[in-house]
Amino acid sequence: MLNATVDLERYRTPVANLDSVDPGDTGPYPTDGDGKRAAQQDLHALVKRMAELQRMFYADGRYALLLVLQALDAGGKDGTIRRALSGLNPQGVRVTSFKRPTELELAHDFLWRVHRAAPRRGKIGVFNRSHYEDVLVVRVDELVPEAVWRARYAHIVAFERLLHDAGTRFLKVYLHIDRAEQAKRLQRRLDDPSRNWKFEANDLRVRGQWDEYREAFAEMFARTGTADAPWLIVPANRKWYRDVVVATAVVEALEALPLAWPEPDVDLSSYAVED
Ligand code: AMP
Ligand code: MG
Repeated sequence: MLNATVDLERYRTPVANLDSVDPGDTGPYPTDGDGKRAAQQDLHALVKRMAELQRMFYADGRYALLLVLQALDAGGKDGTIRRALSGLNPQGVRVTSFKRPTELELAHDFLWRVHRAAPRRGKIGVFNRSHYEDVLVVRVDELVPEAVWRARYAHIVAFERLLHDAGTRFLKVYLHIDRAEQAKRLQRRLDDPSRNWKFEANDLRVRGQWDEYREAFAEMFARTGTADAPWLIVPANRKWYRDVVVATAVVEALEALPLAWPEPDVDLSSYAVED
């Protein structure tokens, strides 16, 4: 039994948008230490449940699950993967981090590298950044003409429909932090020797583009938040709440599938294991 249940509907597009979701929200949990402890207990229970569901999901083999994680720098993508998915069997999970495209990737259409990374049926794919960079950083930094990135919304919706029709279920998560929280986290990267390696001067340049990104995110939610693949705008200032929300979403996505243990292809009653 959980201490509390997160209501995901409030965070899902089209109900949710950047203004309706408070980055500091802690949902049904009190904001104090008791709330944090309760959420951490619940995360533990959810992670156990996720692992159980994953076994049948793998055996069933008819569906793939794709968790797409987008956020600003220091939004918590890495921490979410480390903590909210910690109970999964690594054999059934594939994490792909999308960096600046290589020369080879740029010589193809923008979905080429993404399609290759899509999970096969029975597996859970995690995208740390994704094809959505192609309507975010590419838009804000004007890496291609507007007509090119604008056409991508339709390409993305069609691509995701293709994957959905082939059995892939989407969980598209935006980790929503506010400007003050980002400042705190970037400062920590400068101050803490164990975090220095994560700091990039580029993070500060991107921080300066806060409003442009907000606009790009808002349009992305509006154009690509479909019925089959809505966005979940996750309050992410408090890591302990963020983790419990994402874990809840993964568990709900797996529970929504009509999973079953596959029938054996042979008549088991005709076999016996001898001593
Ligand atoms: P990080 O996630 O901190 O390792 O940084 C990866 C970097 O790659 C970020 O600055 C992204 O904006 C950038 N990136 C990812 N995908 C693309 C893309 N399609 N086009 C341009 N830059 C990208
Ligand atoms: Mg970075």
